[in-house]
Amino acid sequence: QPDCPSGCTYDPSKKISESPHRHVPLKPKSAIMSSILDNIGNTPLVKLNRIPKSEGLHCEVLAKCEFFNAGGSIKDRIGLRMVEDAEKAGIIKPGDVLIAPTSGNTGIGVALAAAVKGYRCIVVMPERMSMEKVDVLRALGAETIRTPTSAAFDSPESNINVAQKLMEEIPNSHILGQYNNASNPIAHYDGTAEEILQACEDKVDMVVMGAGSGGTITGIARKFKERCPNCKIIGVDPEGSVLAEPSEINETTITEFEIEGIGYDFVPTVLERKFVDKWYKSLDKLSFQMSRRLIRDEGVLCGGSSGANMYCAIKAMKDFGLKEGQRCVVLFADSVRNYMSKFLSDDWMSQRDYLQLDKASPQGRSWW
Ligand code: PMP
Repeated sequence: QPDCPSGCTYDPSKKISESPHRHVPLKPKSAIMSSILDNIGNTPLVKLNRIPKSEGLHCEVLAKCEFFNAGGSIKDRIGLRMVEDAEKAGIIKPGDVLIAPTSGNTGIGVALAAAVKGYRCIVVMPERMSMEKVDVLRALGAETIRTPTSAAFDSPESNINVAQKLMEEIPNSHILGQYNNASNPIAHYDGTAEEILQACEDKVDMVVMGAGSGGTITGIARKFKERCPNCKIIGVDPEGSVLAEPSEINETTITEFEIEGIGYDFVPTVLERKFVDKWYKSLDKLSFQMSRRLIRDEGVLCGGSSGANMYCAIKAMKDFGLKEGQRCVVLFADSVRNYMSKFLSDDWMSQRDYLQLDKASPQGRSWW
């Protein structure tokens, strides 16, 4: 991971509140927004009812519904923040080229800010990421480059190294590198975490979230350890990824996973695992089944990593014995919009044996 070219490389040895980076206070939602970018942040915290009840849980379970952000995911926060921090530091100006290596959602966040502010945007993402994300990126005017899914992070063909090469070739181009850019965890420290704490009056017993770049978990954990130190910070990492600790739990025969946005083959600089109290490994099948259940039983139109977080959260709430009067917040990072041709499709699910088609059902409905 080369140093962040926009000059804001994350330094894990510094406390965020004492770091040289700027902090942005929460803004109240205005009745009339000056652009769509004002609709990033301030996402709803929604109580889940039927699933916790059916699991015999008595604590309160709240979903932080990040898919209500303007571009549809939690990563809009960092897309905008990386652009605005680099603008404030005088590193980029409209007309420049912004390059984002991403699993897709960060690209959409950067492309959204680029569209509104007038930058050219190039998104470099592995082939396995959904066509829905590519179509949204193209509609936002971004150029997309796909890299082989099999390319390891340090291979010249990886999205990170292809982005680096493009930056060397294209004049006035800048990588907004989420993996080592301080704006990534700080967006969650100032925004996501602060919103949850304010909504819950600093009373939260557990927060459950997946890790991709690790910005979400690092930013939230750092703020919670300061303000709500007894809260358990739970990380979710897919089987086949190496982010969880202790490293023995990553040992598996599974080498690939289809869940998008979480899990990597390297540990990004912005992921500070020392703040995580416990990691859970997620399986594709149980994650996608839980996403479908969240849609059907709670009406929450979430994406795949939300399902992973939710089913691991259920395990964690049981393992830690959360009781009535206690509260668990689960991060729902993106929406089903990104996966219409994937886990929302009964055929896609049944091809993988994640769902049994019930051909006898009069509505043609099918349940696992
Ligand atoms: N879920 C989804 C769907 C994502 O796109 C991402 C971002 N890659 C995450 C979870 C994890 O967020 P972070 O990069 O902050 O760890």
